[in-house]
Amino acid sequence: MATMYCFQCAREYVEETTECAECAVGLVEEKPTPPEEVGEQDEPQVAYELYEWSFEARRMLEGMVTAEKIAHGWQGAVLIVREADEDRVDALVEQAEEFDGPAIPEDAEKIGYSMEDWSAENQQSLVETLGLNGIAHEFDSDGELVVMESDEDQVDKIIENLSEKLAIEDELGEANEVMEGLELNDLLGEVRGLANKLRKNPGDAKATINIVNKADLLSDIRTPFGFDSGRWSKIRKRSSDVVDVLTSEDRGEDEVNEAAEALYEILEGTI
Ligand SMILES: [Zn+2]
Repeated sequence: MATMYCFQCAREYVEETTECAECAVGLVEEKPTPPEEVGEQDEPQVAYELYEWSFEARRMLEGMVTAEKIAHGWQGAVLIVREADEDRVDALVEQAEEFDGPAIPEDAEKIGYSMEDWSAENQQSLVETLGLNGIAHEFDSDGELVVMESDEDQVDKIIENLSEKLAIEDELGEANEVMEGLELNDLLGEVRGLANKLRKNPGDAKATINIVNKADLLSDIRTPFGFDSGRWSKIRKRSSDVVDVLTSEDRGEDEVNEAAEALYEILEGTI
């Protein structure tokens, strides 16, 4: 069985353990370097005191400096690097700090969300989204996501949007095409116009032929710059639905109307 390490205190754990019993931070695969061994002997070091940071943010920073192959060690919640790496580490610290968002105040009313059905990757997406929205969050010792009660509505909405997006990505697979700017605007405008025709007249043969290829392309485009990714995944899904309905042998007018209406509605809000 592989050994995992606490990056802060270097305690060793078996693979099944996910966090250090002493420090509560997540574990890493590489054996940590003792702080006194960072850099050459007598080489100047700098220390980053990260006591106020969440466990996840420290774990994330650990992953970032490791990925950048920056020599480093931890003394509890203090990160130690070579002075020569200070500028690079400053930049990573800033990035990780942004991800962390504000801390939950001691006296705040809190609520917990079970993360049982969430993969590590999806939890990461959720945490990033919460951070980007400036929502204070942490994980308790049972792995539940904890937020302030005053943020409940916003967190519910974020979870709902993200779940929907993940379900769509699960169903459609990751998008392959990249399209931006004028080309994208033209495509969105054309599909919207065709969807509008079809929702009014589901028997429109010309619109049917024209929309199939274009909506098929639209359903395979990655979230373009400036679009909310949750909203974009809905555009992908509804485009794909229109193609499915129009290319099925026994389609009914009601189905065509419904699918075209749904696509038109979401596009109307985005162009
Ligand atoms: Zn530890």
